[in-house]
Amino acid sequence: MKLSLKKIHMAEIVEHAKREFPNEACGLLAGKGRKVGRVYQMANTERGGMRYSIALKEQFDAARDMRSQNLEMVGIYHSHPNVRPYPSFRDIKLAVHPECSYVIVSLINGMPEIRSFRIKNGMVTEEEIDAG
Ligand SMILES: [Zn+2]
Repeated sequence: MKLSLKKIHMAEIVEHAKREFPNEACGLLAGKGRKVGRVYQMANTERGGMRYSIALKEQFDAARDMRSQNLEMVGIYHSHPNVRPYPSFRDIKLAVHPECSYVIVSLINGMPEIRSFRIKNGMVTEEEIDAG
């Protein structure tokens, strides 16, 4: 299974990650099927480093907005300011959407790298990103 994520949306995620540095940035990816059509930047309610969480109210607002535009939630993204783009123990533990892509952007050495994963029952599978 591939995630279709255009360069313009990747750039938006990277820009968000840089803006939030040294905190983690997070957000939602909406679209159809496996194709991302829109990035929702969310506020990270956790401060001080290696974690993120999105306020429920903001999640509900985004979900309502997606429905009104006939979009589905395709994925969830967050940044790793200082570590490689692979789900942390905590990321895996908190992953409750096996149908969603978990996109992680790393900023190590100022070289943004984006990877995407599916997480189901604690099992992590990397998926290809099609920047088409
Ligand atoms: Zn993480």
